[in-house]
Amino acid sequence: MKSEGLNTKDRKEDMDCIFCNIAEGKTNSRVVFQNEEIIAFDDIHPQAPIHILIIPKKHIQSLNQIEDNDLPLLTRMLVTAKTIAKQVNIYDSGYRLVINTGKEGGQVIQHLHLHLLGGKQLRG
Ligand code: 5GP
Ligand code: ZN
Repeated sequence: MKSEGLNTKDRKEDMDCIFCNIAEGKTNSRVVFQNEEIIAFDDIHPQAPIHILIIPKKHIQSLNQIEDNDLPLLTRMLVTAKTIAKQVNIYDSGYRLVINTGKEGGQVIQHLHLHLLGGKQLRG
């Protein structure tokens, strides 16, 4: 059972987390990439013509919870963004990667995610 060894708080977050549900296929999304540890899907409220969210399948609340042993995963999330940028034809035109962290950082979903934005001239 995947929750074995986790404390009660982690189990609760797992159950309530919309992105965990997407990763587990329990909630629908348009998936553009996935492997054993990462899944990427279209943002439900796109802020640009291309707006894709890249997440670890395992629940990590935010960048603040990243530990040294997660660094290869974080690197692979970045490289995945580049791969997807090629796949959706914004590799050459350019794109933006954003990780909102915490309340004042604008993080709404408490599961680490990398926004991949592009397909138009981004400002600001
Ligand atoms: P944050 O503000 O936490 O950095 O970004 C959360 C993002 O998740 C937002 O851009 C929002 O539109 C997106 N989002 C929220 N709920 C869902 C959902 O159920 N499905 C998908 N595909 N995206 C979602
Ligand atoms: Zn989660």
